[in-house]
Amino acid sequence: MSVYDLSPDELTERLTAWGEPAFRAKQVYAQLWKRAATYEEMSDVSSALRERLAIDLPLGVEVLDERTADRGATRKALLRLGEAGHVIETVLMGYPDRVTVCVSSQVGCAMGCGFCATGQMGLESNLTAGEIAAQVVWAKREAARLPEVTPQRLTNVVFMGMGEPLANYRPVHEAIVRLMDPAGMRLGARHLTVSTVGLVPGIERLSVELPQVGLAVSLHAADDELRNELVPPNRLYPLAELEAAMAAWRDRTRRRPSIEWAMIDGVNDADEQAGKLAAIAYRLRAHVNLIPLNPTPGSPSRPSPTRRIGSFVHVLEAGGVNVTIRDTRGRRIDAACGQLRLEHGADATVTRADRLRGTSGGARGRQG
Ligand code: SAH
Ligand code: SF4
Repeated sequence: MSVYDLSPDELTERLTAWGEPAFRAKQVYAQLWKRAATYEEMSDVSSALRERLAIDLPLGVEVLDERTADRGATRKALLRLGEAGHVIETVLMGYPDRVTVCVSSQVGCAMGCGFCATGQMGLESNLTAGEIAAQVVWAKREAARLPEVTPQRLTNVVFMGMGEPLANYRPVHEAIVRLMDPAGMRLGARHLTVSTVGLVPGIERLSVELPQVGLAVSLHAADDELRNELVPPNRLYPLAELEAAMAAWRDRTRRRPSIEWAMIDGVNDADEQAGKLAAIAYRLRAHVNLIPLNPTPGSPSRPSPTRRIGSFVHVLEAGGVNVTIRDTRGRRIDAACGQLRLEHGADATVTRADRLRGTSGGARGRQG
């Protein structure tokens, strides 16, 4: 278990059991979450306690590889997390007005979308709440080192990395609660977005338990025949049911859901699909995000040509729908979810990042 798995109360319990005063635990908690500090950086904590913390409650974050694109504004890391050494990807994206981290919720994914690099891996493991939150802590540290054209401060978290967050609901929920903790990182729920392939029971739970958190649904097809093929969980939760869950979510939270749509050449980019999507999005008052497909090694699919995307957008706009084309950040560094991980294989043990960062490497519990 990593220290990021512990709530403030649990951390206090551990430290008081070691004979430390309760205020010390509060100090350590604030350093971990507010400052995203490593134990070595906690100068207000005795070196004996820091050593014990590093051994008994490791941070459990090791950077295995790192790639940069967009003049340093996009950074993608391959991280090894927790006691189990789960290897996943986290992407940090700096924009002029915000800094967003895209976090993973699982190692691999069981949902089986054929165009997705993570789906091609299958599911290896769930991440714990601490392993999910640790990615945000990494991002908080790195945000300060982004180019000056960005706010250099982490502002947003999206669950669009590896895995299906609603198939690992409890840990994702716990991680979100921890990230919002006023005594810790204090991220606003409105700056968090969960992206799902459309698991209806999870959407219902989110609407009740975390109504301030944003929702993005990866639709990719606007009729059941095509969606069953592209997104296998559609067979369990067909479109009508999914749309009803999204409408209920919108009514309960009073927020607009987003619809994600990967533009796949000759597969889901016809005007006919756009027309059907426009009707759904209009009814839901949803915002549509089009993502030109990032090609993956395990699939012959290609991104739609620019002209086709233009026509698709035109149909949506004519239908009164708000639509944006997502910039394909970091395509040169294989930013599509799961690609870097695929490249490294199951036993990724690269130490290039240790060299880059001037850390001695290897030591579990080191971060940044
Ligand atoms: N499992 C969740 C979240 C992770 S995937 C979900 O499916 O929503 C995050 C987003 O990336 C989803 O919208 C997904 O459809 C999209 N995606 C996956 N592979 C892609 C690829 N090769 N090119 C473009 N988008 C992709
Ligand atoms: Fe899983 Fe999302 Fe990839 Fe589908 S698109 S396989 S749900 S990570």
